Amino acid sequence: MRIVIKVGTQVIAGKNGLDQKKISKLVKEISVLLKRQIEVVLVSSGAVGAGLPSVPFTNPHRKKIAAAIGQPILIHDYYREAQKHNISIGQILILSDDLTNHERFKNFVHNIEAMLSHKILPIINENDVMKTEDLTIGDNDNLGAKIAAGLKANKLIILTNQDGLFTCNPDHNKNALLIKKVTTIDSKIKKLCSPNKSDLGLGGMISKVEAAKYATGHGVETLVGNGKEKDILIKALGKNFSGTIFTAKK
Ligand code: GLU
Repeated sequence: MRIVIKVGTQVIAGKNGLDQKKISKLVKEISVLLKRQIEVVLVSSGAVGAGLPSVPFTNPHRKKIAAAIGQPILIHDYYREAQKHNISIGQILILSDDLTNHERFKNFVHNIEAMLSHKILPIINENDVMKTEDLTIGDNDNLGAKIAAGLKANKLIILTNQDGLFTCNPDHNKNALLIKKVTTIDSKIKKLCSPNKSDLGLGGMISKVEAAKYATGHGVETLVGNGKEKDILIKALGKNFSGTIFTAKK
């Protein structure tokens, strides 16, 4: 079994940069999956969130500077936690033409396959420092979906700060109901997505649904769940998943 996990900034960040405890929880759960011989690829946001506290000045390139400072902090935090579980990690940073150029995408997929065959956990992020308007992937939900499709993963698990997709915005309406299963992603489903997004991430629920549309269209079941929930990754592989499941198209 092969899975791609996408982690949003809110899942691993605190009020001021990254939250070590949250990263520790995530890596511990990944270690359980690896012990079960599941191949895991991690797409992690958090570079900008990790770096911003070190960029107190105003500058038009503030987020790029934050990403330049934050990406090594992010990967170092993963490295430290991974070591506790004897996991080797490797970092890959990419731009949109690595996905759109056929040869480069093939090369990218082969590199990931090579790492997986040696039990190395690939940790992928967009190359935020080098991206330009022409070269941006958009958001990491989209990136996760493209990787999951390219790797023919069994599942794409998107961890965020919501429990999943709701009938209306749960932050504003207490009658909002969680939708447990979506078999067709159409305009009605897209209308349910609140336009809210966090300050540090790029996505929001609509980009998760769009990523799910892409991945499920390529045969990859997609799950959206709350990264704060205990054992969420383990539950995502069993019958007790508490988020939204988007079923794969054949
Ligand atoms: N690549 C950005 C970061 O690491 C986040 C992108 C996203 O939220 O989709 O901070």
